[in-house]
Amino acid sequence: MLELQTLRTFVDPRLVAGLALLVPSLFFIRKTVRRHLLRKFTIVPDLDGVGAPRPGGKIAGTAIICGGSLGGIFTARICADHFERVIVIEPEAWTFTEEARSVSNFGTREVQNDGAVYNTIAHKRTRVSQYTGNHIYHIPVLRFARKTFPGFDAIARRWGLFIERISTNIYLSGYPVPAPFGPDAPEVLAGPRRDVEPLFRKLVRETCPNVEFVQGLVDGFDVTEGSDNAISSVSVRLPDGLSKSLSGDLIADCAGPSALGLKLLSRLYPALANIPELREEYNPNTAFSTLEFPLPPNFLDNVRALKIPRNDGRGLIDVDRGTDYWMYVPDPAVENRLIGIGRVKPNTVGIIMGGWNTEPPVSLAEARRFAEQAPFVPDFVFKILDLLEPVADKCTATPIRSSTCWKIRFENAGHILPRNFVAIGDATMRVNSRFGQGVTKALMGAVTLDGVLRGQSIGSENLGRTYFARLASRTANIWNNTKYADYGHPSVTPAAGETLQSGWFSRGLTQKLLPVVSRNETAARTLFDSLHFLVPPTDMLQVSILASLVRDVLWPSPSPSP
Ligand SMILES: Cc1cc2nc3c(=O)[nH]c(=O)nc-3n(C[C@H](O)[C@H](O)[C@H](O)COP(=O)(O)OP(=O)(O)OC[C@H]3O[C@@H](n4cnc5c(N)ncnc54)[C@H](O)[C@@H]3O)c2cc1C
Repeated sequence: MLELQTLRTFVDPRLVAGLALLVPSLFFIRKTVRRHLLRKFTIVPDLDGVGAPRPGGKIAGTAIICGGSLGGIFTARICADHFERVIVIEPEAWTFTEEARSVSNFGTREVQNDGAVYNTIAHKRTRVSQYTGNHIYHIPVLRFARKTFPGFDAIARRWGLFIERISTNIYLSGYPVPAPFGPDAPEVLAGPRRDVEPLFRKLVRETCPNVEFVQGLVDGFDVTEGSDNAISSVSVRLPDGLSKSLSGDLIADCAGPSALGLKLLSRLYPALANIPELREEYNPNTAFSTLEFPLPPNFLDNVRALKIPRNDGRGLIDVDRGTDYWMYVPDPAVENRLIGIGRVKPNTVGIIMGGWNTEPPVSLAEARRFAEQAPFVPDFVFKILDLLEPVADKCTATPIRSSTCWKIRFENAGHILPRNFVAIGDATMRVNSRFGQGVTKALMGAVTLDGVLRGQSIGSENLGRTYFARLASRTANIWNNTKYADYGHPSVTPAAGETLQSGWFSRGLTQKLLPVVSRNETAARTLFDSLHFLVPPTDMLQVSILASLVRDVLWPSPSPSP
């Protein structure tokens, strides 16, 4: 009794009650802040709602999608849930053929270029130069496909695409970035762009009866007169040269590098010229080549016998199920050559090589020379190249020199733009293809639009403005990280108003973070999730990660051995 009284004298019960309330409140605040950051910086919460019927039924109106490539196809699928009518306008005649909705089966053709002679895949998608270039897709792409197209996995597998537990064997500047391991490891879609685009096109055509595809080139917007600042219709140049006007309630610019929206709107809204840094661009001076070979006899057995180690030290890579054997993605401040090797189709081996200020290879012999000049390539890669010798003459190459990278800051012009205009995919931002983010970025636009359409009426004056503001915070990191990493190479031409010094802190931080990732499991998982756009970048600010970072600043880890 006496002890209790003494305790009461020293410990104020109000303090105990306060503490009892404080702890759950802190948890609650932490959870609420995290939920806010997840919504602000990722599409994850919006992706959960994709595919659900629109509450209150579809809008009695039309969505016009300018461009029928992957960005346009994703957007059409989203809009099919919101509008009674969706029209996709695409100029490329071939995309209307059965062949453009089937597994690819192109022949080859010889190319003579600057003295080099090589075979390339004779594809017919003339408006998308990277159509046969190596493409990777991040986890959200498969999640979206599963939510919007029932039975997607079975169809994709019938098409020869891979859907596998992730098994990437990636090294960033020599440091391994381990992928999640075990039965809970997330799955990804893998396969050539020339099969993935036709599959999505076919699925939208077959499962969305309210989506129409019109062949033509959008060459003008008409704007409503009066106080309602909106695009009322688009003008389309038809294949016979005639013009047609199509009325729409939502206009989505998915016309990729043509920057159609900015071009047409600049004619109608001269005030856009006064928006500072509306279009930022720089030249990364990169070139990449995709080489493909048919699987030589006993190839898988022979690769298995090479006993290629997983980058996480958990045994050997699964040659039968995994697609990536090994990939080295450099920080251009450290090394300018990127090399990856794996299977792109069940019966096709793919190599990607290139980088900053490089001449990418177009034959097996050149690929070997390219690899020999890079100090970091392990012996088993050369042995895989040896295994490809019997099919060296069947090599096809797709070399692509990068054009400009750009970002159009529509979010800065929200007060000027028509309320029903959105832009998705490369129409708003094109980044260096080093991390293969373009398709996922287009999906991020389409899914962000889904979230906006679920929260706002189609007549809302804030529709486009909200969309661009959300997209900007979700994609800012893609732009900043790739651009500032690129600035690490002296051959890059920086954006107006910047120098190659710009972004020095971001580059320095990345160089310090990579050793931490290979030692700290939390850091590895967080970086992996962040590279797949599943968590906000602020997740890297966890105490254990920061502590490892500080330790690495004070006692630097040795550089990875070549
Ligand atoms: C070498 C290279 C490798 C890449 N690797 C990857 C990768 O691994 N992973 C990844 O995710 N991304 C990768 N990308 C990027 C990716 O290919 C693009 O980000 C993606 O194609 C963008 O899709 P989009 O629909 O926005 O534009 P696009 O695919 O360029 O399509 C634009 C469409 O608009 C149409 N169009 C043009 N003008 C008009 C008009 N006036 N009216 C109507 N329609 C019009 C065109 O015909 C075309 O169909 C790579 C890019 C390159 C160059």
